[in-house]
Amino acid sequence: MKDYELNRIRKDFPILSRTVYDRPLVYFDNAATTQKPLCVLDTMREEYVNVNANVHRGVHWLSQQATELHEGARETVRRFIHARTANEIVFTRGTTEGLNLIASSFCEAFMQEGDEVIISTVEHHSNIVPWQLQQARKGIVLKVIPMDDNGVLDLKAFECMLGEKTKIVSVSHVSNVLGTINPVAEIIRIAHEHNVPVVIDGAQSAPHFKVDVQQLDCDFFVFSGHKVYGPTGIGVLYGKEDWLDRLPPYQGGGEMISHVSFDKTTFERPPLKFEAGTPDYIATTGLAKALDYVSDLGMEAIQKHEEELTRYAIRQLRTIEGMKLYGVPDDASSPLRHDAVISFQLRDIHHMDMGTLLDRLGIAIRTGHHCAQPLMDRLGVLGTSRISFALYNTFEEVDALIAAIKRINTMF
Ligand code: PLP
Repeated sequence: MKDYELNRIRKDFPILSRTVYDRPLVYFDNAATTQKPLCVLDTMREEYVNVNANVHRGVHWLSQQATELHEGARETVRRFIHARTANEIVFTRGTTEGLNLIASSFCEAFMQEGDEVIISTVEHHSNIVPWQLQQARKGIVLKVIPMDDNGVLDLKAFECMLGEKTKIVSVSHVSNVLGTINPVAEIIRIAHEHNVPVVIDGAQSAPHFKVDVQQLDCDFFVFSGHKVYGPTGIGVLYGKEDWLDRLPPYQGGGEMISHVSFDKTTFERPPLKFEAGTPDYIATTGLAKALDYVSDLGMEAIQKHEEELTRYAIRQLRTIEGMKLYGVPDDASSPLRHDAVISFQLRDIHHMDMGTLLDRLGIAIRTGHHCAQPLMDRLGVLGTSRISFALYNTFEEVDALIAAIKRINTMF
């Protein structure tokens, strides 16, 4: 990605040119949420202004227009992750709801007391707690794939964990703390050899590189719209059609039924079976616009830019006295691939102090446990400082960060 393109791209995100504390904003908290391009905001406003009507059940013109936009958005999502059919795309409120849906429906239909789910050490709480809720309800057992000190998951240990009782595996594609890309293709292959389905938490992969669910052969894939330049409150659950057909509904209400009587209710086929109530049809249109936006830029170009930025930042951070990076091996020739997230600790400076001081210098990062407390325990820390990049970040912003950290380093 050339400089002039980046300048043009940044104009699509007016928030990037604002100042905080009289300094230019540097936004490095993209793993938490990304900024939205104007085209997404314009599309949503336009729909509220000119098209707004409830979807699916109206015979009138506006409702049909809104339904066309909503179902068109489903097709855009299908294309974005290369699902086989749009029936495999369920709209949710986000990754968290997608994972809760799978944990709840899958356990209800396919798990008994003593059956096992395998997750990994690097999971976000949203891929831990939904399974723990089922543990409390149904007595299922959680098993955890261990990792080495660089955050690399131990596939041999994983293979040994799979057994008669294993019913499902649920792992993140990219760690939201370490930025490490987990070997999900291997995990899926091994799990499938044991006839065990796999859920991929794609919250931190879908925004950064091309995901092809058919090529991955995952059984379920979830991600959040707001992390991929779309609106908040909308997300996606992809499920292979035969799995979605076999899972029971998650919530009941309008839209998801075929026929209701007081004696017996029948359900719609997926995806509607999992979409009880009025969907956020404005957000689905906004999400589709966001996915079109990144697709037009090209996921390969975005990935290349973010990888260069990440590599540059890692090199620069390493020049700082007392710097520790998590999930980045010291050996530069390590095959470990690294996505657009970097967690660090500088000497004994508390991460909250680091975050607060950087903020005063105009730089927004995230500090704390990043909703991954078991991973913090494994790393032996209470929290880290986390930088995360998006398609609009620049090398100059990385330079500003490095200068700021060096300045903070002299203050303690
Ligand atoms: N999984 C991962 C890896 C994440 O990084 C996040 C959010 O940071 C989530 C799940 C939860 O996403 P959401 O809060 O959008 O549901």
